[in-house]
Amino acid sequence: MNWKLDIKGILEPFTALKYLFKQPATLLYPFEKRKTTENYRGFHRNDQSKCIGCGLCEDICMNDAIDMIKPEIVKNAKNSSELIPRVDFGRCCWCSLCTDVCPTKSLTLSNEYSMVSTDPNSFLYNIPDTSKKEKQNG
Ligand code: SF4
Ligand code: SF4
Repeated sequence: MNWKLDIKGILEPFTALKYLFKQPATLLYPFEKRKTTENYRGFHRNDQSKCIGCGLCEDICMNDAIDMIKPEIVKNAKNSSELIPRVDFGRCCWCSLCTDVCPTKSLTLSNEYSMVSTDPNSFLYNIPDTSKKEKQNG
């Protein structure tokens, strides 16, 4: 019988050791989140101090994902309807038409994208108000 030593076959498993010194290809989610691109279309934000309650965002939405609701406090004296938009993320396709049409540019899309819930009603999303944040920063 003619035996042949398979050196390559013996050493092959040790090539896995090189991965000990490489950066991992996966993220430790949810502790580490994937960075989005600059123009990412994530969850909506509304600067209520600028929102005039015109309802154009609701009118243009082809998916009927926006309805206008009464806020606890109306932040803009020019908001004559005293309503602000709310989004249903069960319907939204993140086309961004609502933000494009917003005359005051109060409605924007953020780079937030993670929402996990067992409650279907939580996808009726009360858009976070960014006017507070701006006041804190200013
Ligand atoms: S992003 Fe598009 S689908 Fe979503 S609420 Fe705005 S207009 Fe409607
Ligand atoms: S978010 Fe913009 S388009 Fe929608 S009601 Fe307010 S001002 Fe009008």
